[in-house]
Amino acid sequence: DPGMRLSLRLLPYSDDLWLLLARDVSKLLRLEHMRRDFVANVSHELRTPLTVIHGYLEMLDADDHPEWAGLLDEMRRQSQRMARLVEDLLTLSRLEARDQLAEEHVAMAPLLATLRREAEALSGGRHRIRVEDEAQVDLRGASKELHSAFGNLVSNAVRYTPDGGEITVRFFRESDGSAVLAVRDTGYGIPAAHLPRLTERFYRVSTSRSRESGGTGLGLAIVKHVLGLHGAQLAIASDVGAGSIFSCRFGRDRILPRDPHLSSPPV
Ligand code: ADP
Repeated sequence: DPGMRLSLRLLPYSDDLWLLLARDVSKLLRLEHMRRDFVANVSHELRTPLTVIHGYLEMLDADDHPEWAGLLDEMRRQSQRMARLVEDLLTLSRLEARDQLAEEHVAMAPLLATLRREAEALSGGRHRIRVEDEAQVDLRGASKELHSAFGNLVSNAVRYTPDGGEITVRFFRESDGSAVLAVRDTGYGIPAAHLPRLTERFYRVSTSRSRESGGTGLGLAIVKHVLGLHGAQLAIASDVGAGSIFSCRFGRDRILPRDPHLSSPPV
């Protein structure tokens, strides 16, 4: 059967005997594909009605019915939240369906400048934002996806840091030749017990804090997938009450010399 997929395990049995276990995982993989397609289809189908609702809500104004003002605001807020959720679900299922991404020269200087602008806009002056570009190299990868992954980390740092805190984006080289993009905040921090599950879809330390701050619960799952497609690793270190550091490590094979001509920001 050409469609059959086997998962193999070789186990030591005795001195000179090995046990080869073969498990038929075809059904498991088919189910996983169905789940992925279903989520992608539902998200896609939800887009159009949401756009319509959103459009009509924008047209309604509460001039004749002042008592509706708060109600309309809340409806707009919730429909925006739902739109963000649908977009994140679509992004995630697109990433899950890929074995690799089209690669290009990712210019890091303009990308870091864009991240700074986005952090400042999200923060609205409530945090100190610092960007330290020490690596002086670029990366080989998918610009749009990397931008979205780093952007999610920056947005989390802003959203989980009380006013007056500090967010630092640092791009540096390690002695082994790898390059690291680290996002550090002085925010709430994360209890150690939660760290292993943080990148699971919809896993949250505090559901109410995440909702209030506009989270979809999918940000870190997207980060993990994008980094995985780049052979990069995510490391999380956190101290409750002191803050967190999310580090994305790229191997030497991902590093390109900085190209001074590539100065336009990624789209
Ligand atoms: P959300 O949309 O809920 O922020 P994410 O996948 O981006 O979803 O993050 C998952 C959870 O990890 C968050 O709900 C939050 O509890 C925790 N988290 C993520 N980033 C940070 C951070 N910088 N500081 C504290 N907690 C964080």
